[in-house]
Parts: sequence; structure tokens; C-alpha cells
Amino acid sequence: MAIREIRTEGDEVLRKRSREVDEITERIKVLIDDMEETMYHADGIGLAAPQVGVLKRVIVIDPGDGFRVLINPVIIDEKGKQSEIEGCLSLPDFFGEVERPEWVKVEAMDVNGDKMEIEGDGLLARVICHEIDHLDGILFKDKVTRVYSADELQEARKKKR
Ligand code: ZN
Repeated sequence: MAIREIRTEGDEVLRKRSREVDEITERIKVLIDDMEETMYHADGIGLAAPQVGVLKRVIVIDPGDGFRVLINPVIIDEKGKQSEIEGCLSLPDFFGEVERPEWVKVEAMDVNGDKMEIEGDGLLARVICHEIDHLDGILFKDKVTRVYSADELQEARKKKR
């Protein structure tokens, strides 16, 4: 495993559409391992392949309940709305509120190339939507409804505790 460089805003790769994975090759497996290590090393809860410069539809997430890999993820159903503060490893100093579905159901492929479904609400739904956006060249900044300064962010986080 290796830690890869996380691309930040301004890097064109973040604005391109990633391509579907047809086959789980050795290269894809190495990519997934590296993305896992890179995400945890950066204290992230999700990472999409374009964030490490690879235009493939692969995301890794761990919103606190374990590590998961989703290959070619597609949202097949969603319900409700939630609005929370988000951040992004590719936008290190930017925080803001984004509206997302409260619940999503996603179809994807697992590391063995088998079809799988995952559904969830709250943070899990939010992370999945955020990471899938990366695969389409969308940054959460594009959808933000309210920007938070570093001070406001601290205040908001204090209130939540
Ligand atoms: Zn992000």
C-alpha cells in the first residue's frame, strides 16, 4: 500500500467525469488499497479515485462504521433531505452547508466484481453522495448553500457537542 497525493482544487482532474470500471484488475486492487491508506492517513471519511488523479468510478468510505469500497456506484433511490456542514480533502480550507438526500439506496460492484446494494441515512448517505459527485467532476463547493469561516465552523461544532 502507498499513500497517494491528494489533488486539490485547481487540478483539472477534479473536474472531469470518471469512467466505469469494466474489470477488477490488479491495478484497480492496488488503487483501492492505496485509496484506503490515503483516506485514513488524511483523517478523511471518504475518498474518490479522481482525488488521487485516477479517473475511474471508485470510491472508498468510512463514516465511522467500517471501511467500504463502492465501484461504479449509482444512486437508485433516495428520500428526504438533510442539510449539514461538509468539508473535502480536496478543498482543505473550505467548509459549508450542503443539502443532500436523507436516505439513499446505491447499487455498486464490490472488490470481487459482484453486484451489491447498500442503503443508509444521515452521514452515510451524505458521504456517498459527496463521493459520487466527485466521479462526475462536481465539488461540494458547487452546491454549498452557506459558507462557514474557520471561526463559524468552530462555533457550530461546539454547539453540536
Ligand atoms: Zn470531497
